[in-house]
Amino acid sequence: MRATAMLLVAAVTLPALAGCASPSGGPASSGSRAPDVMATFYPLQFLAQRVAGPDLVVGSVVRPGVEPHDYEATADDVVKIHDAKALVVMGAGFEAWLQTARSQAPDTRLIVSTEGLRTRANPDEEEAKSLPADPHTWMSPVLAQQMARNVQAGLAAAWPDKAATFRANADQLVADLKELDREYRLTLANCSTPFAVTNHAAFGYLAEEYNFTQIPIAGLDPEAEPDPQTVAHVVDEAKAHNVTVVFFEDSVSSKVAQTIADQAHATTRVLSPIEIVPEERQRQGVDYFTVMREDMVALHDGMGCSP
Ligand SMILES: [Zn+2]
Repeated sequence: MRATAMLLVAAVTLPALAGCASPSGGPASSGSRAPDVMATFYPLQFLAQRVAGPDLVVGSVVRPGVEPHDYEATADDVVKIHDAKALVVMGAGFEAWLQTARSQAPDTRLIVSTEGLRTRANPDEEEAKSLPADPHTWMSPVLAQQMARNVQAGLAAAWPDKAATFRANADQLVADLKELDREYRLTLANCSTPFAVTNHAAFGYLAEEYNFTQIPIAGLDPEAEPDPQTVAHVVDEAKAHNVTVVFFEDSVSSKVAQTIADQAHATTRVLSPIEIVPEERQRQGVDYFTVMREDMVALHDGMGCSP
């Protein structure tokens, strides 16, 4: 709700500020003004917008509705990054396009949101060559607090005169994340089937934080179609642990999940890795916290948690 209000305020004040916009910036996702800050994708854009407040426009490199894994930045993206004062990235090898962006926008301050976070190593040797660490840290309300502080420090370095505002905004964001963490701990404290079959391994940090086991169909990087052996293995695992719900992502087809659910005598349900939040849902006021709470309810019901 708060972020929505901020975005509305930003939109209303935009025309007055349009004169400050860079001529080469082009239309930003959040209005006509070129973004002051660019962030890789939705979760980082959300965190950065909350910390930055309504005076700054935060754009997203990956557009709403586009899968961020293996994304290639376009020339237009690079122009926006060049014209922004700061670029917020995941780091940890998530942005394959980062080197190009750095060389073509050397003056844009780089803010690595996962700096100092203890990330999990990628257990898949082959995949680890290109993606050494699990990048899905935004899915942990605990790690997201550290990410918010990293964003705060980076923005304060870029706009020293706004440091106090960023601190106050980050304090509120961290308080909201702590409340989310508290709700998760209560909601998932007592589950009869603490196993979650997921489309790709995006929920490792969440599982670690709230003591359940993720059974991913694909690795840390979502793959197109799993081979029959993988599907058979996941069905066996699901049966062995009496799984009654197979989760699938909001942005991918539910076909594979349905196949596994049919064979394991389970049903299917959406569990979002929040890699994509469609523009239409964002316009309806759906934000990171909304989807995190939807996931919490889905996990609670799917893993047989009580009360
Ligand atoms: Zn992912």
